Amino acid sequence: MTQINSVSFMRSLCMGRIEEDVVLPFPTLSEDERETLRGVVDSLRSLLEPRAEDFRKWDVEGELPSDFIEELKAFGLFGLVIPESAGGLGFGSGAYSRALQEIAKFDASVAVTVGAHSSIGMRGLLLFGSEAQKEKFYPRLATGEMIAAFCLTEPGAGSDAAAIKTTAVRNEQGWLLNGNKLWITNGGIADFFTVFAKTGAEDGRGKISAFIVTRDMPGVSVGPHEDKMGIRASSTTTVHFDNVQIPADNLLGEEHKGFKIAMQILNSGRTGLGGGSIGAMKRIIELASKQAKERKQFGKAISEFGLIKQKVGQMVVDCYTTEATVSMVASLSDRNFDDYAIEAAISKVYASECLWRTVDEGLQTAAGNGFMREYPYERVMRDARINRIFEGTNEILRLFIALSAMDDVGSQLKELATSLQGVFTDPIKGFGVLSEYALRRARLVTGLRRDAGAFTKLAPELSGAAVVFQQATSNLAIATDRILRKHGKNIIGKQFASKRLADIMIDLFVLACTLSRVNSAVQSKGAEKSATELQILEAFAGQAKVRIQTNLNAIDDNSDEAIKAIADHTFEAERFTWDTI
Ligand SMILES: Cc1cc2nc3c(=O)[nH]c(=O)nc-3n(C[C@H](O)[C@H](O)[C@H](O)COP(=O)(O)OP(=O)(O)OC[C@H]3O[C@@H](n4cnc5c(N)ncnc54)[C@H](O)[C@@H]3O)c2cc1C
Repeated sequence: MTQINSVSFMRSLCMGRIEEDVVLPFPTLSEDERETLRGVVDSLRSLLEPRAEDFRKWDVEGELPSDFIEELKAFGLFGLVIPESAGGLGFGSGAYSRALQEIAKFDASVAVTVGAHSSIGMRGLLLFGSEAQKEKFYPRLATGEMIAAFCLTEPGAGSDAAAIKTTAVRNEQGWLLNGNKLWITNGGIADFFTVFAKTGAEDGRGKISAFIVTRDMPGVSVGPHEDKMGIRASSTTTVHFDNVQIPADNLLGEEHKGFKIAMQILNSGRTGLGGGSIGAMKRIIELASKQAKERKQFGKAISEFGLIKQKVGQMVVDCYTTEATVSMVASLSDRNFDDYAIEAAISKVYASECLWRTVDEGLQTAAGNGFMREYPYERVMRDARINRIFEGTNEILRLFIALSAMDDVGSQLKELATSLQGVFTDPIKGFGVLSEYALRRARLVTGLRRDAGAFTKLAPELSGAAVVFQQATSNLAIATDRILRKHGKNIIGKQFASKRLADIMIDLFVLACTLSRVNSAVQSKGAEKSATELQILEAFAGQAKVRIQTNLNAIDDNSDEAIKAIADHTFEAERFTWDTI
């Protein structure tokens, strides 16, 4: 039986505990996986490298031609995560993410097409499918005979997925499905749809359930390709269900568990998006560093100027730390950790924002050339933008990261408060009304102290960054505590405060993953051969330290109310209300 690990590094960290065995040593792929992956990466290069001009053309045309999609199928790209016994490559999250990285180096539309299939389209089947469902669909999904799509979003339900209106009403043959889905990746080319619909009430007020729907069912139709800013050649369409009769066997997982299923699918597929972001970053770093050496201004290569070094150096820090984080999340999944939702959300937010910064600075390095369509920067920039939007916007994910942590700390304090009842003369009703004295006690008992937790297994060369981490861990505990005390259960509406906490948590998790990666490098190659990696760690730790302190200071000293009032003023007027004439 597979052993489930139930510790969450970030949840523990919010309680002031550093679970170093979760992040040390840095994960590596198995020799078997590496062997297969090397072959896949080499053949991917030979398949995709010669198509550079085609990718440019297909971006303009806004579609991947069907004969190219057939080539992707023949290559086995739709079977990456399907077990070998069912005709797939059986990749775990780490190997899958690395394969997507390679595709994304060449073209984001191809990466999104393959990624939407494996990360979300068929992942429900992988995670929740019955044996019979797997037996029926795996072989066709592995060959790409069926391409998969994930159908959650609707016109009235984007971030608020629980507001979907699509319904599935139980009848003698199974379920009758009605509704409309919006912006579905692979919509135009898919035959297998994971569809979320409300069940249990015809008026749409039921609970969400998940279904497998196939294109051949009467009543399934799709709209035209959307004309998009980026990933233009990937297929994005509406998908419509008009009295679609679904067999009873096509319910995915348990009835009414659809919301949780959707969230777990997104969670489990996050390393696909992470891998894609890393691939695009590596490409931009290659382009920009060559460009900086070739371009001469003021009699010198621009690579000699400090401000250009700053950009390229930062791109590398961003890419290395993202790769450390995404690899760690993939390994949490591959090692059967059952609760890594916070860590996975952090990796999505971090990867998509590092990618955006890298593309922006890469384009700035190429300057005028970067702005020209003849060069790849502008397309990579258009393609990169979607990552901050789909699979959960970064705003929603930041709220999720922060509120999960505060919920944990809050309930621990609440539990403690209950257990302490009667000890004090003043009865304590909950963390919101804990007295100062009780809070101090609570901190002692729960370990929310300045000296809580430390790394013990890191190489001595990493001690500077480790101290930053440990200090910031106690700052995190202080921040969580201070925010909870300030806002109590009103925290849900305090999004500025939540964002600050999320940003501290993001910096901390990325720092932990980077410490782990550099530690493994130092231990295997020695400090001298790991000099640049130690500098990457030094740079990131220094930057994280400043950001964390700034976020901490801003909990009590900020201009949040002014910003909110300015926004409200503008919503009222629906315009900028000043002019100089
Ligand atoms: C190219 C593309 C491909 C896509 N592919 C798929 C797919 O395959 N399957 C699928 O189901 N969906 C897909 N989507 C939909 C995508 O997941 C949604 O666009 C996304 O979830 C955001 O929803 P929305 O666009 O309706 O934005 P909204 O939810 O309307 O959000 C608008 C803004 O408000 C913010 N916001 C919303 N609620 C809150 C809140 N409570 N607090 C603070 N800020 C908030 C958001 O962060 C955002 O900045 C795709 C979208 C695109 C553009």
